[in-house]
Amino acid sequence: MKPYRHVNYLWDDKKADALDPVGRLVYRSNLLGSDQRITNTGGGNTSSKITERDPLTGEPVEVLWVKGSGGDLRTSTRENFSSLYQAKLVGLQPLYAARTDKGLKSRAEDDMVGMFPHTTFNLNPRAPSIDTPLHSFLPGRHVDHMHPNAVIAVAATADCERLTREIFGGKMAYVPWMRPGFELGLAMQGIARAQGDVRAIMMGQHGFISWADDDKECYAATLGFIEQAAEYIEAKYQAKGGDEAAFGGAKHRSLEPAARRAVLASILPWLRGRVSSERRLIGTVQDDEKTLRFVNSRDAARLAELGTSCPDHFLRTKIKPLYVAWDPQSGDTAALRAAISKGIEGYRADYAAYYSKCRRPDSPAMRDPNPTVVLIPGIGMVTWGKDKSESRVTAEFYTCAIEVMRGAEAIDRYIALPQQEAFDIEYWLLEEAKLRRMPPEKELARQVAIVVGAGSGIGRETALRLVREGTHVVCVDLNEAAARATAKEITDKHGLGIGVGGSGVSSCGPALGLGANVTDRASIRSMLDQVALAYGGFDHICVTAGIFVPSDTTGHIPDEKWAATFAINVTGSYLVADEASKTWSDQGLKGSLVLTTSANAAVAKKGSLAYDTSKAAANHLVRELAIELAPLVRVNGVAPATVVQGSAMFPRDRVIGSLAKYKIPYRDDEATESLVSKLAQFYADRTLTKSPITPADQAEAYFLLVSGRLSKTTGQIITVDGGLHEAFLR
Ligand SMILES: [Zn+2]
Repeated sequence: MKPYRHVNYLWDDKKADALDPVGRLVYRSNLLGSDQRITNTGGGNTSSKITERDPLTGEPVEVLWVKGSGGDLRTSTRENFSSLYQAKLVGLQPLYAARTDKGLKSRAEDDMVGMFPHTTFNLNPRAPSIDTPLHSFLPGRHVDHMHPNAVIAVAATADCERLTREIFGGKMAYVPWMRPGFELGLAMQGIARAQGDVRAIMMGQHGFISWADDDKECYAATLGFIEQAAEYIEAKYQAKGGDEAAFGGAKHRSLEPAARRAVLASILPWLRGRVSSERRLIGTVQDDEKTLRFVNSRDAARLAELGTSCPDHFLRTKIKPLYVAWDPQSGDTAALRAAISKGIEGYRADYAAYYSKCRRPDSPAMRDPNPTVVLIPGIGMVTWGKDKSESRVTAEFYTCAIEVMRGAEAIDRYIALPQQEAFDIEYWLLEEAKLRRMPPEKELARQVAIVVGAGSGIGRETALRLVREGTHVVCVDLNEAAARATAKEITDKHGLGIGVGGSGVSSCGPALGLGANVTDRASIRSMLDQVALAYGGFDHICVTAGIFVPSDTTGHIPDEKWAATFAINVTGSYLVADEASKTWSDQGLKGSLVLTTSANAAVAKKGSLAYDTSKAAANHLVRELAIELAPLVRVNGVAPATVVQGSAMFPRDRVIGSLAKYKIPYRDDEATESLVSKLAQFYADRTLTKSPITPADQAEAYFLLVSGRLSKTTGQIITVDGGLHEAFLR
């Protein structure tokens, strides 16, 4: 077999032969989806026509297993596939033919989508995709529909039909752009019947479809067509001058990586504020070599204006990106902000004009007119989405678009879908119905919270609590490894998402672990800059980091321990708030800050002079900051009482010291866990509610203060101490 240079051939007979027919389909789908050059995330679908036993008659029956709506090929399992009676699907054809209102993009065509569930085999609940007729009506037992950059590059040229013949020598037929649906399936069926030799069809401005009666053969054929297209493109690309001459050659130079990141960190939260409506967005940065080559090029402005081609793309990338006219060599970030502001204004006006020009009587209302892809010469690309995964998918899609334009311009001239066609996809009533079926967003969706002290105890618990409400969590700790461990715990549980775009720290998932020292302003700034690069900005900060220094053996607090206590418990919180406030005001979105004080702030007692005094100062810091940061940011405090369980402030030694102090019996060889629960019960018995206080109890208070549930509360301290009447605030 000829080695593939442009795709990965991964088929392994040993693995495939151990699987049942549906397992083989899932296997083939995962292999195809694992190579970004074969298909984009969420794009493309696969099918197999498999003989199954009918549960009603016990007779053998042909069932079409086809990737259903939602999910993506790379991560698909059996659950992502619908199973439909093949004969019943084909039987829809006379039903459709009898409709007098049939035709491309007609009501009759859309109605057929509602008929697919009636053909379901064996009560499979997966909703069938709109591409189902393509798979059902083609003759092959196995069908792959892919969106490879190399093939879309051919599909997106002005001279696509002729180029398809030239590249594939008649093995691939051609169908001009048609919105996917029943009509496209019928058109493909017609082509396959009329041209008995073809085993694939180029789908103008979309992708391609190929089929075979053997699944391994189908996989190899799909890869072969992509390889052929890529070889043809690369030969022409090199002949035209390669990277040097791509997109008309370079007009700008990239800034050095450190300078790029500095510019991005300084503008991202501000940009996030500009592109977010009442629905906030999460950002992703892409600044790899290919992206930079495009944004720096002479043709970037012209090509960006043409818009993206593949119909899958612009549901996320919008019809076109915002290209910012800025000279990176000037290094003038004020000019950059002005250029972006002007660009966004123009973009919104263009979007509104596109909507009113293309709208139909029953079109859904205009969607958010802000750009989701922003291209900046010298810097790279910034993309936006409702969560991290979606903004990474958006980055991936525009990266695909850049590759498609590179290929199309190398072999011919790139053309985009006509505006009306793009509109009819973006505002398709079926698409709107799909959006309406989506579960409601979680309470803290579209937000980013930083938890300082997330490596252990209350901080870790708060991070776990907040992420359950849909927020993105940055876990920060002096102990970077502990911060990363909490972030990993979250990512392992909630998944990385399906997006694969993003450069450096921006390729993170719903959680990120960072190290920072709250007593060092530069360290805090650097952490906040990383957060901007990772997510585009942040909304909330919870500071749970703190220190308890006991007196020495004589009952005295040494001066340096007094100073360290104040540096961390008071000044640290102030420095975090002060640095964050610059970002908050630049971003201009409402946020919240929650500091950690203590029941000890209100109760004077022996042996914790420095700690108690620092916490009393922290109580007042909450009130002062509430005034300073109003009206944009609410500032509140949580005052826990001694949480022993899971706390870094209660190492074994301190637990033993306390047990001794309160004359609670224990053995020297007793397990730490048992010592901790003895002390926790002792503390609990001193409270009104008589139950041990856990980090999870505290986390609930941080969640409440961060959420919109207490949106009118600022400058307040909430105690979570089980009820200590000595600590009642007056
Ligand atoms: Zn497609």
